[in-house]
Amino acid sequence: MNEFELIDRFFTRPSVAGGIVRQGVGDDCALLDCGERLLALTTDLLLEGRHFLPGVDPASLGHKALAVNLSDLAAAGATPRAFQLALALPRADEAWLGAFCRGLFALADEHGCVLAGGDTTRVPSLAAQAVAVDGPLTICITAIGELPRQAARTRGGARAGDDLWVSGTVGDARAALACRRGEIAGVPAGDLAALARRMDRPQPRVALGVALRGLASAAIDVSDGLLGDLGHVTKRSRVGAIIEWERVPRSAALSRLPPGRQRQYALAGGDDYELLFTAPEAQRAAVEAVGAASSVPLCRIGRIVDAAGGVRVVEADGAEVPTPWQGFDHFSG
Ligand code: ADP
Ligand code: MG
Repeated sequence: MNEFELIDRFFTRPSVAGGIVRQGVGDDCALLDCGERLLALTTDLLLEGRHFLPGVDPASLGHKALAVNLSDLAAAGATPRAFQLALALPRADEAWLGAFCRGLFALADEHGCVLAGGDTTRVPSLAAQAVAVDGPLTICITAIGELPRQAARTRGGARAGDDLWVSGTVGDARAALACRRGEIAGVPAGDLAALARRMDRPQPRVALGVALRGLASAAIDVSDGLLGDLGHVTKRSRVGAIIEWERVPRSAALSRLPPGRQRQYALAGGDDYELLFTAPEAQRAAVEAVGAASSVPLCRIGRIVDAAGGVRVVEADGAEVPTPWQGFDHFSG
């Protein structure tokens, strides 16, 4: 059973007609009906050894813990308002907490997102069980945003014929991880720093998410890899998609890696926190105008087709690009 089958089977319940939940399990955010406005709600858990390496810079960790949640709000087109923070700490380390809070609140203040509560606990020491380590540091954030009722946007609105767009560049964070793990070597120091910044300090595309209200037919943030996350959109929208590999935006640093690595990291890397979205062809000029006005460029990387077409990646001459990788899944592999 993979992660998404598990969620489908055990945690996806029939929605209650007339209840407050307009969009429940299965999207970047839950959407709660509050009259004129919708509240968007999202939770992300960061576990040491799973989502970040032990000993990571605490200020970057504070930033990233909130950034991944704001990125889900951006996918839904919501304006961030507040968040709750739950921590399971191995110890009360003042220097660590000070740096964590600096990273966390710098991003929170930038987006006007207020810490409104949470929970704090100590993880049990496993020393009593003759294991000389503490349990893993765990950070869980629930973020809340809002949007006008008519601006509701999910993963389920893509239609055959729509353009497929992505913001910024993809693959950098996975390339940084590969460097840290020693999977690739010989990357120049300047490139290494640029890639590492993408992994450690992802910038949630909040303003872009809002600017795309009424233009994007579907959206998702790229956390599990471009193809894996596109798969969530095509499944929920019951469509297929074609990506033109040459159009997939890559940073200068990524472009200097071997071609096979570039493809793997850009298409299946993950941790990008860019927005992947669809929009009707009739909105192409409007989307281009949003891109031109935004601090982050937008690239049209392909189009949506009928479900029978599946998800394919092609070269400029139409030749198929093999895609042997799976999107990230906590219970596979
Ligand atoms: P994202 O990558 O956007 O954070 P996930 O892939 O983590 O989304 O989750 C997919 C969907 O499943 C989301 O709608 C999320 O809210 C839901 N989900 C995940 N785990 C649970 C759970 N234990 N109970 C209920 N819903 C869950
Ligand atoms: Mg998401």
